[in-house]
Amino acid sequence: MMTKTFQYCVYGALFGALFPVVSTSFDLLIQGLPLTLSNAVQIQRDQPLHWVIDSAPVFLGLFAGLAGRRQDAVIVKVLELTSLNARLHQEQENLASLSAGLRQLFDDMPLGAAAYGAENNLLSANLAFAQFVEGSVQAQTALEQEVAKLNPTEAAQEISLQTNDVTKYCLAWRVDLVGLGETRYWILLTDVTTHKAREKQLVTASKLAVLGELAAGTAHELNQPLNHIRLVTANLSNLLKRLPADTDVLQTKVDAISGSVMRAGKIIDHMRSFGRSDPATMEQVSIESAVKGALILLTSKLHDPPIQVEINLAENLPPAQGVESQLEQVFINILANAIDAIRDTDPSTKRITIAGSFAEGLLSIRVRDTGGGLSDTQMDKLFVPFFTTKEVGKGTGLGGSISYGIVKSFGGNIVVSNWERGAEITVSLPVASRT
Ligand code: ADP
Repeated sequence: MMTKTFQYCVYGALFGALFPVVSTSFDLLIQGLPLTLSNAVQIQRDQPLHWVIDSAPVFLGLFAGLAGRRQDAVIVKVLELTSLNARLHQEQENLASLSAGLRQLFDDMPLGAAAYGAENNLLSANLAFAQFVEGSVQAQTALEQEVAKLNPTEAAQEISLQTNDVTKYCLAWRVDLVGLGETRYWILLTDVTTHKAREKQLVTASKLAVLGELAAGTAHELNQPLNHIRLVTANLSNLLKRLPADTDVLQTKVDAISGSVMRAGKIIDHMRSFGRSDPATMEQVSIESAVKGALILLTSKLHDPPIQVEINLAENLPPAQGVESQLEQVFINILANAIDAIRDTDPSTKRITIAGSFAEGLLSIRVRDTGGGLSDTQMDKLFVPFFTTKEVGKGTGLGGSISYGIVKSFGGNIVVSNWERGAEITVSLPVASRT
């Protein structure tokens, strides 16, 4: 007995030879209508040709399709068109809701975004962008001027803006578009004002920690000139009792007292200015005074045990762009670590060398110590906040990360490596532009 499928094939061949409908049905099948499961289900659900798809494998379906009547073919075609239309409609709805969703995302996202045309004309901006410039046309123009200087391939750049007497900070970058309608580029920005304020608090906290750490040593350091003054005044008083005294001797004593007073005053002044809150704007900073200022605060640490410090700054070193007390803080952190590393080494080799040079608009300050250097882990983590190998109460683990943040905010860089006998930290800073 012939199987049903075989029957279909025979009928298919016969009808195929006899009726013009063949081409329509064949067309339909060639278009792949029965070849996909979704079509199969649809046709099965709605109309006649269900057996074609339901029971026959694809190539048998082809034969079977040849057996279909014109009517069936037309119905299936209409069905297909209707379903296509429905799908198109669905796609349109999906697209519309996607577009509405994207618009809402654009409007509400915390990242500020603004689209600009070929003439640098603002086409649209979202809420976060408008909030950042606080609706001030002046602030917006200032921001645009800053962003226009950005290279689209560069990473985000920090920009500060004065809006209604408040300084705001953002990280901004520009994304150029090609061939996407009117929009030529986007300005994207993220408000980092709060983050900057916290960073500042952290820098102040780290300064206070440095001052706290140095307090005992500094008290000792202040005691020395005070003891000296006490001795000299006692001596002076004895001399005055035996008048007439030699005025030259008296003068030497008075000079010695004033020398000690000046020394003590210098340390106190320095501690006060170091502890003061930093100015908001950058200034021209002398590398020499930042290095020497750091050494004044570290005097006590350098005396016990005695460590030799060699300063080798190139002549006429131009000033760097930055904040003096912050640069001083960077050197304090670097030098304090060097002193700690050197502490337990051979007394004859305890040395720190500070070398400063200048080339192609960049200042380079290299600090080398003889403390044996950093291990791979120390090297990897030096700039990671709270990494410390020092005992509790001795280290905060903030020196490296804060120095890194400060140097980066000046547009510079800080790198660490080892040389034969210890660590080598190099700070590079852009030279201040002449005003
Ligand atoms: P802290 O000094 O409070 O530990 P830092 O961030 O300044 O924090 O330093 C992190 C760690 O890096 C130090 O604890 C130390 O292990 C290592 N380190 C930094 N500078 C040196 C150096 N010159 N020689 C050896 N190790 C160093």
